[in-house]
Parts: sequence; C-alpha cells; structure tokens
Amino acid sequence: MSSLNGRTALVTGGSRGMGAAIALRLAQEGADVAITYVHSEAAAHEVVTKIEAMGRRGFAIRADAAHPGDAAGAVDRAADDLGHLDILVNNAGIGVLGPVGDLTLADVDRVLAINVRGVFLASQTAAGRLRDGGRIITIGSCIAQRVPGPGGTLYATSKAALIGLNKALARELGERRITANLVQPGPVDTDMNPAGGPHADGQRALTALGRFGSADEVASLVGYLAGDDAAYITGTELSVDGGHAA
Ligand code: NDP
Repeated sequence: MSSLNGRTALVTGGSRGMGAAIALRLAQEGADVAITYVHSEAAAHEVVTKIEAMGRRGFAIRADAAHPGDAAGAVDRAADDLGHLDILVNNAGIGVLGPVGDLTLADVDRVLAINVRGVFLASQTAAGRLRDGGRIITIGSCIAQRVPGPGGTLYATSKAALIGLNKALARELGERRITANLVQPGPVDTDMNPAGGPHADGQRALTALGRFGSADEVASLVGYLAGDDAAYITGTELSVDGGHAA
C-alpha cells in the first residue's frame, strides 16, 4: 500500500520544474493532487494526465500567486474539489537577480508578492483547511543559508523570510499534528536554472558533489516529508543542495 493513499495535496506552480516532479511524486505515493499554474496551461494538463494515468484524481487550477485572492482561493478550491486537504506544497516562486541598485520597486513588489505573500496567504488558508496530521511543505532556497556572490539581495530576502514563517507555522499548528517544513534546494536543473545555462558551471563548482540536482531529487525529499515516517520532523530547514552549504 502506498504511503499517501487517501491523502490529498495541492502543489503550487505544478506545471513545470520541481512543482511538476513533486505533484507526480505525491500521486505515485497514492495522493490525489491539484496543481496551480499561470502561463503553462498545456504543461499543467500534461501533469494532470500523468496523475490520472496513475489512477489518482488530478486537476489544474489557474491561480497567480501574485494575486492575494488567487493565492488563498486555490487552497479553498483544492480542499473543496478534493473533499478535504492534507498536504500543501508551496512551490511557486520566481527569481529576479541583479545588482541591488538596479532592482526596481516593481521587482521588489513582484518577488515579495509571489515568494512571500503568496506563500503566507496559501499557508494561512491551509491552516484553516488542512486535516489534523497535515503537512505544509515550502520550497525555499539554499541562498537563504549561503549567498555565494553578488546579485542575490532580493531573492535571498524573499527566501530567508520563509525560514521565520515556517518555524512560526510549526509552532502554531503542532497541536493538530500538522507539520511545517522548509526544503532548501541548491542548483536544480529546471527552466528557471538550466544546467546548461551561462552561470551553471559556477554553481556546480559551489556544490560538494560538483553537479546540479534534478527535480526528482527534490521531489523525493518532499514525498518523504509528506508521509507518516516524517511525522516528528517540523519547523526545520532541510537542504537538498549537493553540499552547497557545506
Ligand atoms: P520553474 O521556473 O522551472 O517553474 C516555476 C513553476 O512555478 C511553474 O510551474 C510556473 O507556472 C509556476 N509559477 C511561476 N510564477 C507563478 C505564480 N505567480 N503563480 C503560480 N505559479 C507560478 O522553477 P523551479 O522549478 O526551478 O523552481 C521551483 C521553486 O524552487 C521556486 O520557488 C524556486 O524559487 C525554488 N528554487 C529553485 C532552484 C533552482 O535551481 N531551480 C534552486 C532553489 C530554489 P507557469 O509556467 O504555468 O506560469
């Protein structure tokens, strides 16, 4: 029997990259899974088709994490349509890098709206909708632990904010056996950060293992945190970074 049989999940930003791999992993473990997307409608429907091919329920919700109503509404929609909600994976995020002096107010507002406010609002709504024993798993970044060079002020600010949110959620929801954990990936080969991109070699050199991670390697950790075996892990940051922080 799969470990997540009978559970339901929402993965934000599940159309591509790590979010898609996480959605498929949770379905493989037995969960019914809803995903959100903004632009990649065809890719989102492909993920849903794969979830359904595993014999699970899946559906895609167009919900922009930058919009407060969408960020919270997707959680309500997933809980309503799936019948209940056990797992929220806050994965949707964007990276805007550049010298601190070049970042515009619009950059600051957009990154904080998606990477921080959207995660806060989804988690706030999930706090009221998750069943006891549920999971909030948030995708942060290794940059919150170690900033390896210039250009990361805004992105690091946004991902570091998640450390505080995650700890506070764990404290608030622990009495209902709901755990909250922050997964901090290192360089992972996705559209956001391709292993063949111009800055890839420098990132590889910063890891102990000398390589990019795969989306599946992050999904594997999320799958573990979602399951019963991880019931005593909460309020913590877990790195899946090839030794980027070592
Ligand atoms: P990708 O850019 O490859 O995929 C991003 C996903 O998020 C897509 O499904 C996209 O959907 C969705 N998304 C983007 N903006 C929004 C939004 N406003 N509302 C809802 N969904 C949105 O990113 P990754 O898979 O690489 O990154 C996933 C997470 O991991 C992010 O939080 C990122 O910051 C973090 N991370 C990534 C690292 C890396 O090296 N790749 C390293 C450390 C952390 P659509 O296409 O439909 O718009």
